[in-house]
Amino acid sequence: MRKILLLIASAFLTHASMAQSIAEQGCGTITSDEEMQPIYEYVRTLESAKPKGTAGVDSIPLSIHIVTKDDGTGGYPLQNVFPLICSLNTRYAPASMYFYIAWPIRYINNTSYYIHNFSVGYQMMQTNNVAQSVNVYFVQDPSGTCGYFSPGADGVAIGINCAAVNSTTLVHELGHFFSLPHTFRGWENGATPPVYQQEYVKRGVGANCTTAGDGFCDTDADYLGSRWACPYNGFNVLLDPLGDTVKPDPTLYMSYSMDACMTRFSPLQIGSMQNNLYGIRNALRLRPSTPYAALSTPNVFLPANKVMYSNTKYVMWNKVPGAQYYYVKITSAALPTVVRQEALTTDTFLNISIAMVNGGNYLATVVPLQEKNVCGAHTAAYTFSYSAALGVDDVATHQRPLSMVPNPANTETRLQVPNVKNGSYAIRITNIAGQSILQQDLQHSGGTFSIPVSTQYLPNGIYSVRITGNGLSMVEKLVVQH
Ligand SMILES: [Zn+2]
Repeated sequence: MRKILLLIASAFLTHASMAQSIAEQGCGTITSDEEMQPIYEYVRTLESAKPKGTAGVDSIPLSIHIVTKDDGTGGYPLQNVFPLICSLNTRYAPASMYFYIAWPIRYINNTSYYIHNFSVGYQMMQTNNVAQSVNVYFVQDPSGTCGYFSPGADGVAIGINCAAVNSTTLVHELGHFFSLPHTFRGWENGATPPVYQQEYVKRGVGANCTTAGDGFCDTDADYLGSRWACPYNGFNVLLDPLGDTVKPDPTLYMSYSMDACMTRFSPLQIGSMQNNLYGIRNALRLRPSTPYAALSTPNVFLPANKVMYSNTKYVMWNKVPGAQYYYVKITSAALPTVVRQEALTTDTFLNISIAMVNGGNYLATVVPLQEKNVCGAHTAAYTFSYSAALGVDDVATHQRPLSMVPNPANTETRLQVPNVKNGSYAIRITNIAGQSILQQDLQHSGGTFSIPVSTQYLPNGIYSVRITGNGLSMVEKLVVQH
């Protein structure tokens, strides 16, 4: 048997000039011999292995944890979360697996988790994992890697720099989560496995693909344990113990080729993931979820001439049936990809908290979301200019179910809702800090709801006014200006 030729370091210089931090960071997951047993069992008993239970797509809950520094800064932007999950689902569609968001998205402000080593990462997952879901933690630095799956803590950590929307790191780590080893198993971190664990290139008689490497005969032998560019350039002459040339498949997500090369899981990899899902991870499938709901584009209430004033700094839109959250983003009009302010809210308005420049142009984006519908197909967006002057909130004159006139209010405003049913209602006014200012229950005999609200003693500011009851739930914003 011939020896494996050593990889030549210079061969990797080709990708050193490409997105360095991503290219040079790898995955921190090593599949142990013990964890390989279900794979070997699966490939050995393929015919009798538990097939996927249904022909349909399985919904799998994702608990998303965004880890920030202690001061709350530096977290993975929400702007990227939803397209990333969309892309994840496109890539997992051939496996009939569909990931949905198990709300809420959780924030953890902890610098020692933000940049962590494996043992602190383990502790982070143990402390914060949500049961019956796949827990994914977005951090700045997951122990010097792009990402890893921790079998002990049963969670996945992903580095922000490896979570660009077209990145495959999350796809890869979830492959580990659902049982898959690397296609180059044994060669991780520059290691050379014992000869009997080196997968032969050959298939059929004399092959060892069910007992060596990743255990799958439909993934080519792969000895490349560092990032490599595709197509395989052949500069590295890798020979297996039988003397055959190793030509790893760059299209497999579980290899270490580049993001742009990866497009698939093999059929046996898919079978193993499904086997895992229907076996030890069956609880994920059984978690109750809300059926997919189609969403419509929200109608955003535009200020007159699209000018926003210093006392009317908010974005407001109508409730979209089926939407569970709204993702709202404020950017400058010239740099729409640079987030200035973003929020996930169940309200139908967002106060703008960023400092805006007088005369500056900005873009407001509102995306309705539902746990299984996060691809943003029904995004509403509008540009506006900002004026540092005081202005009149003409939004109240638009057709809205709940209106307050005048708004901004000085000593009093009148709250109106047309066509309400006979029944009891609750009105609640909160200030911008969320403190309750007024709470009132009342009966209404039906028709137009119209009551005066005194604002005489309220300090200048922005308030949230809610009316609930009898199937009604509305929230609008009131500006008090004396
Ligand atoms: Zn990996």
